[in-house]
Amino acid sequence: QTKIVESELAKCAVTKDNQRIYIHLNAGLSADTSIAVNRGVDGVGLYRTEVPFLLQRSFPSEEEQATQYHAILSSYPTKPVVMRTLDIGGDKPLPYLAIEEDNPFLGWRGIRFTLDHPEIFLIQVRAMLRASIGLDNMDILLPMISGVAELDEAIVLIERAFDEVQKQAEQQGQTLRRPRLGIMIEVPSILYQLPALKGKVDFISVGSNDLTQYLLAVDRNNARVANVYDALHPAVLNALKHILTASQQLGIPVSVCGELAGDPVGALLLVGMGYRSLSMNTRNVAKIKYILRQIDAQEMEALALQALNAALATDVRTTTTRFVEEKG
Ligand code: PEP
Ligand code: MG
Repeated sequence: QTKIVESELAKCAVTKDNQRIYIHLNAGLSADTSIAVNRGVDGVGLYRTEVPFLLQRSFPSEEEQATQYHAILSSYPTKPVVMRTLDIGGDKPLPYLAIEEDNPFLGWRGIRFTLDHPEIFLIQVRAMLRASIGLDNMDILLPMISGVAELDEAIVLIERAFDEVQKQAEQQGQTLRRPRLGIMIEVPSILYQLPALKGKVDFISVGSNDLTQYLLAVDRNNARVANVYDALHPAVLNALKHILTASQQLGIPVSVCGELAGDPVGALLLVGMGYRSLSMNTRNVAKIKYILRQIDAQEMEALALQALNAALATDVRTTTTRFVEEKG
């Protein structure tokens, strides 16, 4: 059993009709950097920097952050590592920062918080840049962008941090590479502003967890409404298809880093829609790779089309699960 899993991990995910699907890891704990599964992934698609912040007693210093970020970047020197800036608030309050709000998920979280606290944002971005000196694999990802103004504001701060760290690096005879910049697509408003991203971002990453929450107006962690929270809701699937089509037209690379990408049914539908880059938790990597190697991407296209035209999430689940079972 262990042997089979090991051999699965080493191979890359190529469908029977030769479509290469890039499989990335969602990470946040240092343990994520050291396990065997990592050998066979194409990089880190989402490093949740809030995790180390949550484990601390107070805000980590620039030095502490740089050390942590360097550990992950240097674990994958030849592969891209997407470092997401702090996404606290909502379901991830910091123990040392009290935020009292009636609607935390609609409140002061992600980029909204860090743009209101540029000193925290600048320290973090400088730490990331310092951690990347001598490496060329870092991408920076901004969470919870709801409009272009937030992106523009963040770009100004990132440029400032870049200039500062570049000067330090030059003084030490080292070079700093400009990181690629991306945003999370997880707030529905940005779905209608995708063309405005052209020239401003190098990639986008779809956060299907929050996108589902905000499209269906349902708390992702509330057990009472858990039956309403369904990423296979045809409205969510159509939003995902729209993002893929628009990003292809705009020439902006796109991947999915929400839980849907690590779910067998979700992964098949995403591949059927045309997604070729998925990021998932460690525990799902071997399973998803195995499944993707058993299928034809072209067959998935028909399955995805059916799902996009379905009226009910339950129909999507039944049809796709039946297909998976038939494939064994
Ligand atoms: C998402 O929203 O889908 C996502 C990947 O980010 P998080 O789960 O950290 O909010
Ligand atoms: Mg999110």
